[in-house]
Amino acid sequence: MAAEEWSAVLARLDDAAELIGCDPDIHRVLRSPKRILEVQIPVRMDDGRLEVFTGWRIHHDTARGPAKGGIRFHPDVDAFEVAALAANMTFKTAIANLPFGGAKGGVRCDPTTMSLTELERVTRRYTVEIAPIIGPDRDVPAPDVNTDGRVMAWLMDTLSMIRGGESIPASVTGKPLSVGGTVGHAGATSTGVLVCARAAFNKMEIDMTGRRAVIQGFGKVGGPLAFLLASAGMRVVAVSDAGGAVHNPGGLDVGALSDHVSTAGSVAGFVLADQIDPSTIFDLECELAVPAALGGAIDAEVAKRTGAKLIVEAANGPTTPDADPVLAERGVVVVPDILANAGGVTASYFEWAQSRQGFAWEGDLVATRLRSRMEQAFIDVWAKADSYGVDMRRGAFGLALERVAEAIAARGLFP
Ligand code: NAD
Repeated sequence: MAAEEWSAVLARLDDAAELIGCDPDIHRVLRSPKRILEVQIPVRMDDGRLEVFTGWRIHHDTARGPAKGGIRFHPDVDAFEVAALAANMTFKTAIANLPFGGAKGGVRCDPTTMSLTELERVTRRYTVEIAPIIGPDRDVPAPDVNTDGRVMAWLMDTLSMIRGGESIPASVTGKPLSVGGTVGHAGATSTGVLVCARAAFNKMEIDMTGRRAVIQGFGKVGGPLAFLLASAGMRVVAVSDAGGAVHNPGGLDVGALSDHVSTAGSVAGFVLADQIDPSTIFDLECELAVPAALGGAIDAEVAKRTGAKLIVEAANGPTTPDADPVLAERGVVVVPDILANAGGVTASYFEWAQSRQGFAWEGDLVATRLRSRMEQAFIDVWAKADSYGVDMRRGAFGLALERVAEAIAARGLFP
């Protein structure tokens, strides 16, 4: 699976290189990661056993600036997956026009079976092992699957301690406000998805008001997004999560649904809606479908059946490569993940900038800058796709590669 993810990244890169007529030397440089660090993480568990975990931190490219990307803790993570995610960060930061390269980290462990103290020991030892290649001007980690602000605070504290106790808040993003996080980080990805949906509807000449939206996933992205779409006047008619799916053609009461999820742990069983088979969520007739859960959720079969006119990819890699031509043939517009979910890394950029400045921005400033950067990214990708006569995904990769290649060419080759 993970080796396939790396192959998929290479296929997209090769396609973009051909599309833009990329210098073959630069293309070759980007076909492998710049730096792969694999580390051993020995940790004393609560019961006295010694467990040895494996972790990675991979830099794909750093021509545009320090490497940027999350750290995930998951039992299935491997080097191919981390490399693929790192490369996607190179392209995502370029599309959002941020002064960053692309990185990703992972530790192969199952946090659901670990105590908080075990999780902290894993985080701190992993940080020590990857310390030589991270820091505010080298590589700036952030949360990803199964990691959060608390993990980022431990990471920052460990780095600070081993560097003699100096405070290094710009070394991580997604950290708690109390240690230099930014307002507006939580919810930034959802805001970016809304900006993209609004911009795409404008291009499609569809008024959002009263139109139907379905969302797969009701977590950190899907949950706030449901509120944002409802506030923008859309009818959120269906939502699914790992426990089930609910449908109300008149529009779900998002506040009541959220209350239900906080007590029941899932959207399943919400009484103000019909219970439906979660695998049919994308079949529903709607103007907007947002996959905000898993990779690979929209394959060619789902693409043939989908009732959506617009798909905005909040999740990473929700559409399989064989689904793209099916969707294009059916006239379904797809806003690709590397554009649609770039709101999170954009907020991370703001956090990094504030930490370096030592000056916290007001919430309004964060919101305004996030919106305008996401609007500009959408305009840039749309224009690029238009100029090449391709879909938005190919346009996005083409634009990203142009920007990265320009930086590599400008810096030249050392020595
Ligand atoms: P999360 O863990 O908070 O939420 C995931 C949601 O998906 C949960 O509601 C879960 O129940 C649901 N889910 C899991 N399996 C499912 C299934 N089989 N069918 C339907 N729903 C299922 O994760 P998140 O942070 O909201 O991230 C969601 C996606 O967005 C991921 O692909 C992630 O990589 C991507 N993403 C997140 C961010 C961010 O800021 N959190 C940024 C960029 C991309």
